[in-house]
Amino acid sequence: AMPGKGEYSIACMPADGIGPEVIGAGVEVLKTLSQASGAFQLHFTDFDWSSETYKKLGKYIPDGGLDELRKHDAILFGAVGAPDVPDHISLWGLRLAICQPFQQYANVRPTKILQGTESPLRKAKTGDLDWVIIRENSEGEYAGQGGRSHRGQPWETATEVSIFTRHAVERLIRFAFETAQRRPKKHITVVTKSNAQRNGMVMWDEIAAEVAKDFTDVQVDKMLVDAMTCRMVLQPQSLDTIVATNLHADILSDLAAALAGSIGIAPTSNLDPTRQNPSMFEPIHGSAFDITGKGVANPVGTFWTAAEMMRWLGEEHAADNLMQCVETVCGKGILTRDLGGSAGTKEVTQAVCEEIRSSY
Ligand code: ATP
Ligand code: MG
Repeated sequence: AMPGKGEYSIACMPADGIGPEVIGAGVEVLKTLSQASGAFQLHFTDFDWSSETYKKLGKYIPDGGLDELRKHDAILFGAVGAPDVPDHISLWGLRLAICQPFQQYANVRPTKILQGTESPLRKAKTGDLDWVIIRENSEGEYAGQGGRSHRGQPWETATEVSIFTRHAVERLIRFAFETAQRRPKKHITVVTKSNAQRNGMVMWDEIAAEVAKDFTDVQVDKMLVDAMTCRMVLQPQSLDTIVATNLHADILSDLAAALAGSIGIAPTSNLDPTRQNPSMFEPIHGSAFDITGKGVANPVGTFWTAAEMMRWLGEEHAADNLMQCVETVCGKGILTRDLGGSAGTKEVTQAVCEEIRSSY
């Protein structure tokens, strides 16, 4: 999709649990943004692929489904996972089944403490945070390589093989440096575990050093993933852009979300930086069946997701304005329970829509 063309077709895939509630809220806010700004048009197409489909048909994605999906400029995704489907089946059945063929090799997770919200870091007085974590999204520890033998025997063996290719590591690290270069601090932290994992992780370090030569204006530092968790808590302001493997960044970004105040606020983008395929945008939280159908899910993660999607589509101004409106509403104390407030999904959504209308 060409960025900034002014008219975009969005594939909506709410999927499981609170997915439909938060995606419904996100679509409402995006429609309001489109109408109020008059700057761009959005066309939404619903895709009802979910764990319900899987339970009925034995698969998440119908025949020819990916070709349908490919026609859109972006995918707005809710959450996948159901109590009666094993997590590795739902994850591989839907999310990874889209990420992999669409070459969405960069997973981008911005995190900061929004106005009006409380973070454990503020309480601990270690400072605020404003980070973007870039996660390798195509191989590594989640390549699905390995196997099991001698099932049930005491000598049963399982291997879970990590795959690191120069091609995938280099394109990801290059994308991360480009991201760092566009941010005010121009600072990147390359995270590995190259003291203990002496093949793939050492290659990561080497490739990072090579790529760094093309970005002389970006300040680089290196961290081992274990020490990194301490630094995120104790010196949050010393970090800005963070690049790590599929597994490491998965863990670090949950920590980041918790440090920012709630898992309910943060977005994640699965990008194909070549723009040959649609990219996919989703809140980082999961299907959260414990609160499904209660009207209390925090929609802010999906609003921020919607803003990241508009930014990727080239509508920077709309994206910034949407985030400003979300922060204004949070600042007024209109917060869901996970952020210590008492508002429901609908109230927060209405407040953000009103804020958008009055901002133009
Ligand atoms: P998954 O396996 O897909 O990650 P999960 O159910 O294990 O799903 P989450 O869905 O991320 O994990 O939920 C973790 C906790 O955070 C739950 O207690 C849930 O209620 C809460 N939570 C997640 N998303 C939200 C949200 N948008 N608003 C409020 N609370 C949320
Ligand atoms: Mg989870």
